Parts: sequence; C-alpha cells; structure tokens
Amino acid sequence: MTGLKQLEALVREDRVSPGERQRRVSMIAEHVFATSPYLNEPNFSRFHPDDLQLLYELYDETFFKGLLHRSLNPKQISFRLSKRMTSAGGKTTRWIYPQPNVLPKYEIAISTPLMFQSFNAPEENVVVTGLECDSRLDGLMRIMEHEIVHLIEMLVWLDSSCSLHRFQNIASRLFGHTDHRHELMTPSVLADQKYGIRTGSRVRFHFEGQRFEGIVNRVTKRATVLVAHPKGMRYSDGIHYLKFYMPLSALERVG
Ligand SMILES: [Zn+2]
Repeated sequence: MTGLKQLEALVREDRVSPGERQRRVSMIAEHVFATSPYLNEPNFSRFHPDDLQLLYELYDETFFKGLLHRSLNPKQISFRLSKRMTSAGGKTTRWIYPQPNVLPKYEIAISTPLMFQSFNAPEENVVVTGLECDSRLDGLMRIMEHEIVHLIEMLVWLDSSCSLHRFQNIASRLFGHTDHRHELMTPSVLADQKYGIRTGSRVRFHFEGQRFEGIVNRVTKRATVLVAHPKGMRYSDGIHYLKFYMPLSALERVG
C-alpha cells in the first residue's frame, strides 16, 4: 500500500482516546521546548516559520506514523507567519500547476496578530477549535492540528472544507476538536455571542435568595457585576457598589 493509501486508512479509522491524546500532545510540547530556540515557554513571545515545520514533523511522527512525510515530499510544503491574517488563526493553501511534471505546492500559514493578541491575561483562557487553551503554545498546537487536517484532506481527497462532516469527524476522532471554526475565541467574545452579555450590560440575578440588578464591569470566564448598594465599597464615581463574581449562565439581561 502506498503512503497516501495508508494515510487515508488511518484518518478514516483512527480514534485517539483523550488520555492517549494528552500523552501525545505533552510529548510534542516537551520536544518543542527542548528543540526550538524560540518556543521556550508556554507563552512564548516570538516564533519562527521553522517552529511550524517542527510542529508539523512532530505531529506527523506522533499522530500519523510518518505517513505525511511518505505522502508529501518535504520540498512541496512550506510554512509562513502571516501579519495580515486577522480573522482566521491559520490557513492552508495549495497551488496546482498546469505543467504535468510540476508537483503541487502546499503552504500552512499562521496568524501572528491573533497569536499575540491572545493569551496575555492569565485568567483569560482562549477557546480554539472548541477546546479551552491555557497557553499560546496550546493555542498554536490546536490551530496546527486544524490545518494538518486540511492538508491531509487536500492530499487524499483533493478538496477540503472544515464546514463539512468529513473534516469535523476526523478532527474530532484524532484531536478531540468540537468546533471547526478558525477563530481564537476569548471568553468575552463567547459571552457576547452566547449570552449577549458584555461590559456595560445591565443584568439581573439571584444571590443567596435575594434579587440584584447591576452593571457588568468585566467579563472573563465569569462576569464581575457591580450593584449600587449602601453597604458596598465607594467607587470613583462617588457611588457605593457591591461586587459580585457570577457565572454567565446565572445572569439575565435587562433592557
Ligand atoms: Zn478550516
């Protein structure tokens, strides 16, 4: 069987358990820290296209038995950091040439603005491919996993779309992804999408049997709500507020 046929069989059938996935992903991260001159801590402050290649090779060995290397000449694939990509975390592109003797070329690009705008506040975990990531490296690895699934689909089936079932099925079985979107979602963006709650929203909630109404002051995984109350602390606007740290699901928007 050719490398490509074996790769197709693997992505059609393989299912990696959460424990095994965790073990493999930790192994990749350890290897990256030991090898890369740039990625030397989970919240690295710079990185290089070579780091993307390193991750690609480690994923190939760890999840795909080196079959990517056997199916795709390393000369056909390149890696790039993009300063312009601001809506998607990553992008995989293929170029096909009309001459029959010229092989197609592939590129995986990763957005640097999105990587560095995220993971700056320790309490602000970022959701990538549906999974909560607690470091920049974690986020980068989820994006690389997503892009590698695109690459494999292009190699095996020529077309690739992450909005279709086949992609989502592979990404879920191998990497546990629960969302096929490319964005790096911060909890405040998710809160806005899911609950319509953002900084400045007026909300109502129950706390220890009492009903309160206040203004959202800050959103992370929970919302900080300020409620005007004589027993509260005096703020710079001269008003006394009680401060509540509430789960988003417990809040009801008012107005
Ligand atoms: Zn995609």
